[in-house]
Amino acid sequence: MEVLYACCEHVEVAIDDYVNEKEEAPQITKVQNQKCCYCKEDAEYEIK
Ligand SMILES: [Zn+2]
Repeated sequence: MEVLYACCEHVEVAIDDYVNEKEEAPQITKVQNQKCCYCKEDAEYEIK
């Protein structure tokens, strides 16, 4: 797992998953034209 994409509904889940795996705080940036890793919605955030 290098980069997670999340919609506004799943961004907190994505941050939790990131922290659990990497054990460090992620950088969160706004993105367009990506799909959420947790549902079929368009992603709003990149977590890496
Ligand atoms: Zn989602």
